[in-house]
Amino acid sequence: MTPEDLLVEADRCVKCGLCLTVCPTYRLLASEADSPRGRISLIQALAKKEIDIDSHAEQHLDRCLNCRACESACPSGVKYGSLLDASRSSIATEHRKKPLLKRLLHQLSHNGRLNYWIRLYHAIRQSGLLALAKKLPAPRFRQLLTMAEQLPPTAVDRTGFYPSTKPTGKKVQLFTGCIGSKIDDNLVQNAIQLLCGLGYAIDIPTGTECCGAMHRHNGFIEEAEQQCDTIRTQTAKSSAQYLITLATACHLELADQQASRLPLVSISDFLLQLPDREMPELAPMPIRAVLHRPCSSRDSSDWRILNKIPQLELIELAENELCCGAAGSYILTQPELSNQLGEMKLTHLKASGAKILITTSTGCAMQFRQQIRQAGLSIEVRHPIELIYKQWANAGTGNK
Ligand code: SF4
Ligand code: SF4
Repeated sequence: MTPEDLLVEADRCVKCGLCLTVCPTYRLLASEADSPRGRISLIQALAKKEIDIDSHAEQHLDRCLNCRACESACPSGVKYGSLLDASRSSIATEHRKKPLLKRLLHQLSHNGRLNYWIRLYHAIRQSGLLALAKKLPAPRFRQLLTMAEQLPPTAVDRTGFYPSTKPTGKKVQLFTGCIGSKIDDNLVQNAIQLLCGLGYAIDIPTGTECCGAMHRHNGFIEEAEQQCDTIRTQTAKSSAQYLITLATACHLELADQQASRLPLVSISDFLLQLPDREMPELAPMPIRAVLHRPCSSRDSSDWRILNKIPQLELIELAENELCCGAAGSYILTQPELSNQLGEMKLTHLKASGAKILITTSTGCAMQFRQQIRQAGLSIEVRHPIELIYKQWANAGTGNK
């Protein structure tokens, strides 16, 4: 978006304020500058050079979760997310802001570098230095170390080709993401086994690790474009039928940026479109589970695929329209606000009486796991496909 386009889009805001009640940061801070309308005014003033970057404007923009709840509430159809991305990009470029965050995201978005940090983290933990590091007076660093507790015990790399267990000739590409491919390794393995068992060979190409969403939403557009270009190249030369995604935030970014040359489909939608004869047989699961809907996806696919599990009592988490506070890198950059939103979710989770929380977002899953752990509760956090895989295996048909 050019500066001229940004001003045209921002001018579409008529300042009616209908978006204020749905904004999580306005709800927490009750300040106009931390509302969508206030932020649009700041974006306009920055673009027109009426205020400078040291006028606290950046702080209010940084507090935005980019959850885009305001977009759904806006009668004028203002594309708030694009405005925010463009404004953050111009701040990052013109003022060379956030060099540390830029470097951190660079490290987190590549398979090999992530595996290096996983090994280093476990070495530091075994040496006993981790407890010392956690005492440093730096909340963001402490939050990073706390989130790192969710890393797998060893470095993993699931890139490669997985043959189908049936000679169907069908092939799909699987997009496993960057951090998600490590944190949600169980999900990645379940998805591979399920798809191969249903007759699909799988390709997970090396080099397509990150969708670029975290870079883009922090203003690092060039890095985000590089990630999308890699995916465009990998999908353009593939003979697969689809690019299947596991995490909703990655899916939204790949769709928004038209980053796939293959038809893009979430794994839930992929299973839902299978003919009945190909659908896996599922064992009953007489348990209550609560569904959390990430900001990146509010559609009904996960609800519908989970309803295929006999006897599963599925309920909605209260206030599902409210962001959980994970919001990509927000959980690291704004730990206090993120934690407040996470605690609100935990209250609803406890009230639900469910033993399993289901979500399709890696970031949301990390937020819930951290909140559950801090509260000393024993509630599992799962992706819908982990449940589908488990009940497929329990039905005894998984290896037919
Ligand atoms: S994206 Fe979310 S946090 Fe940001 S202004 Fe809109 S509703 Fe508020
Ligand atoms: S609802 Fe839309 S037009 Fe109204 S203040 Fe919010 S962004 Fe502006």
